[in-house]
Parts: sequence; structure tokens; C-alpha cells
Amino acid sequence: MSLLKVTGLGKSFGGNRAVDDVSFEVAAGELLALIGPNGAGKSTTFNMVNGQLRADSGSITLSGQELIGRKPRDIWHLGVGRTFQVAETFASLTVVENVQMALISADGVVHSLWRRAADHRRDDALALLDLVGMKAHADRPCSVLAYGDVKRVELAIAMANAPKLLLMDEPTAGMAPKERNDLMALTKKLVIEIGIAVLFTEHSMDVVFAYADRIIVLARGRLIAEGKPLEIRDNAKVQEVYFGSGKTFEKKQAVAQATG
Ligand code: ADP
Ligand code: MG
Repeated sequence: MSLLKVTGLGKSFGGNRAVDDVSFEVAAGELLALIGPNGAGKSTTFNMVNGQLRADSGSITLSGQELIGRKPRDIWHLGVGRTFQVAETFASLTVVENVQMALISADGVVHSLWRRAADHRRDDALALLDLVGMKAHADRPCSVLAYGDVKRVELAIAMANAPKLLLMDEPTAGMAPKERNDLMALTKKLVIEIGIAVLFTEHSMDVVFAYADRIIVLARGRLIAEGKPLEIRDNAKVQEVYFGSGKTFEKKQAVAQATG
């Protein structure tokens, strides 16, 4: 059975059907890419799954439980995690303290207890940092980290609640190609080793084709294709939406490389 099942999902903003009758599934242990041009409805779809936005129609179930109508925090408790940017207010905390804060939140401990939080599940926080290759940086302030390392910490924070499904909306935005690949390789490792499902959006086709187990494609709110990377690469509808008919991903990439 699939972990997440989205059926007939719809959302309009005024007369704009941002998401229009979209259905897809995510299995446990699957790294699924949601791609599509700007304005296709990717973020709107994510925000309905995590409860930030309420769907107009359709159904979203996690292990058979309906999510529509639940508050974001309840959805998070049920096992839908998402990566957040490490908040600026936390930049003065150390790396491990940031992860401890996430564990406190996951445990539902009230924030006034932060005075005693220095000891709160430090070992668990270190284990999460080890998972993302950041244990050696545990006692450094977050503010001094390189951007790619901040992203790793964000991933450790997202894992604090042991999500079944992790939503990552443009996780590699603003990253150099090497950092993008490192972050996605790490994400893939979590999918394989821990068995979580990940739904992510990503603009770089290189990254999508290299890491996604499966790809779903949105255009103007509608799901136009779904399949394995090679199937999507060869899909005429997808190529048309991205580049106009007659062009392929390969040609586009060749042009991008030639022009730097
Ligand atoms: P993507 O993430 O694929 O770029 P979005 O989901 O952000 O696309 O947007 C889909 C469509 O919905 C776009 O036409 C966008 O302008 C519109 N939209 C998104 N969020 C809002 C909002 N809060 N209010 C009004 N229109 C919105
Ligand atoms: Mg978006």
C-alpha cells in the first residue's frame, strides 16, 4: 500500500485553478520528484499536503488517514515532515542545540524549559547529526557554517520527528552544482537506509534524473506525466511543456553548458 495517496486534489486562487484534479501516490522508501515550470502548482500541492493550505477538493491520505482538514502540527505529528530554513533567531545557537530544539518540539516539551534544554536528548541530537555527516560540527554556532552544511543541519532537524514522509520544496535552491549533488546524495541515503519517503521539487534536471526513483510532472495545475526518469526524459508532452516541441533535455543542457 502506498504511504501517501493524493486523489483528485484541487485548489483555486480566485479564478486561477492552481492545482486541478491531481492524483498521485508515494510509496515508503521512495524518492519522488515533482517537477514542472514556474507556477505549475508544485508549492501549492506541497502546502496542501502539509496542511498550510486547505484543499478545495479531493483527498490526501497518509497510511489511510485523511489529512485534509487537519492542522499543520497534527499532520507533522502524524509523520509528514518538511525542511525549514534554520531560523535566524537560532543562528546564535550551536548546531547540536538547534537539533535539540527540534527534538524538544517533537516531544512537545514547553519552551519555557529551554533553561534545562542544554541536556535534552543531546545524544539523540548527535546521532541525527551523525546521520547527515555533521557530528564534527556539533558545537559550532550555526551562523559560521557554510551554506551546504546549514542545509545538512536543516535535514537533521527535519528528521527529529522521525517523519514517514519528508517534503522538500526546492531544497537545493541557491546551491552550487557540487553542493546540490551532495545534498541529494545524502537525501537518497536517508531514503535507502531509513526507508522514509521523500517528495521533492527541483529545477535542475541533472539532479532530478540522477536521484529520483520516479517523477511526476505538473503543468498549469494538471498532472501531465508520471514515470521513471528515462520515461519522463523521453516523454513528448513533458519536453513540449519545458522547451517547446522538437527540443530535448539533452539539447537544453548542451546549450546551458555551452553558454556557461
Ligand atoms: P510552483 O511552485 O509550481 O512554481 P505555485 O504552486 O507556487 O507554483 O503556484 C501555482 C499558481 O498559483 C500560480 O499561478 C501562482 O501565481 C498561484 N498562487 C500560488 N500561491 C498563491 C496565493 N497564495 N494566492 C494567489 N495565487 C497563488
Ligand atoms: Mg514553488
